[in-house]
Amino acid sequence: MEEVRVFTLTCAVQNYAWGKAGLDSEVAKLVLGGDPLAVIEEDKPYAELWMGAHPKADAKIKDNLTGETTLGQWIAQFPGCLGSKVKDTFQGQLPFLFKVLSVNTALSIQAHPNRELAARLHAQFPEHYPDDNHKPEMAIALTHFQGLCGFRPVEEILGFLKSVPEFHALVGNEAAEELRCVTGDAVHTRQALKKCFTRMMNCEKKVIVDQLNMLMKRVTGDAGKDTSECNGALLLRLHSQYPGDIGCFSIYFLNYVALEPSQAMFLGASEPHAYLYGDCIECMACSDNTVRAGLTPKYIDVNTLCDMLNYTPAPASSKLFPPVKDYSDPFVSIYDPPVPDFTVMRIQVPASVKQYTVAALDSAGILLVVEGDAIATSAAALSDITLRRGTVLFISANEAVSLHVTAQLGMTMFRACCLL
Ligand SMILES: [Zn+2]
Repeated sequence: MEEVRVFTLTCAVQNYAWGKAGLDSEVAKLVLGGDPLAVIEEDKPYAELWMGAHPKADAKIKDNLTGETTLGQWIAQFPGCLGSKVKDTFQGQLPFLFKVLSVNTALSIQAHPNRELAARLHAQFPEHYPDDNHKPEMAIALTHFQGLCGFRPVEEILGFLKSVPEFHALVGNEAAEELRCVTGDAVHTRQALKKCFTRMMNCEKKVIVDQLNMLMKRVTGDAGKDTSECNGALLLRLHSQYPGDIGCFSIYFLNYVALEPSQAMFLGASEPHAYLYGDCIECMACSDNTVRAGLTPKYIDVNTLCDMLNYTPAPASSKLFPPVKDYSDPFVSIYDPPVPDFTVMRIQVPASVKQYTVAALDSAGILLVVEGDAIATSAAALSDITLRRGTVLFISANEAVSLHVTAQLGMTMFRACCLL
């Protein structure tokens, strides 16, 4: 089996309640594309597709010769498939988890600890923090995608403190005044912002609910009027999903980020964020550590959260993470975040190109076909492989795959790998 080093995967779907339902979901569409016999239920949420070897949902190798082998088992048996650098750096484990997300209702506002904090939290509270790894993430939009990300510029937050008295009440006079008086010193600004956010997060639940009710009354009472001063449309949407939740007020602290297809955002350690709506490709270090801040029925660790966040204010536009062109391949755009664990490539083969080679890398990779059809051949595959929308291919390090493109309109693929 070792000589077969390129093969297709059957990947697990997570049916979390926040996912898009039925064939509205990109996840469901890809599942059906990859397996025309798959049954998609109209009312069921298809939230995430996990393409990787995470123990919670290890992909199955779709090759009848290997029986029921999972990708994780196979890598454990043949760690050389990772590439020598990746194998040594990440102790024989695939360092990333590749996903597709289809978001219908907001996911919790959250941040992920850095490695040091993750280790400490895991040692102290293993029930809340399941492993000791960091979890940088990157989201690349497949459809129009909306999220919250990072603290807004101070002027914007001051604007909301002025125009939304209910928000001001939760932050309190003293903290709000301190933020108003910052003069541009970065350390002082971060301290003042931290104080404002911490005060709000520590308000009693009843106070939060009362202020939120007042605000909702004001916004809904203003029917027909312009409520943009208090971000009315987004507030109404989040409140309908999470009534009474402190996260509804976070829209005054955090940037609203809208991504068009192929635009990306990178979420480094301690960056507060939430996904609100849309479909995306996501890649992350293999970890499950999340500290939550609202829009969730789950456990919120307010002290850890308020302590760890990156309080550097920055405009929404700075949250976009642009890809770079691959000099060796005009059809490849590289999203290479400032962490060693993963890189994502977008491969866009134009309609005019019928023969294309997915280049060999010194890293194992997972390739997802989002659009288009091809016949793939590789010296390391058991036989020719038909690629179509939804096909997920595992490619061992140092193996190339030749594509004969049969689609009329070209192909779009995403490839996760680890470029050390
Ligand atoms: Zn996250």
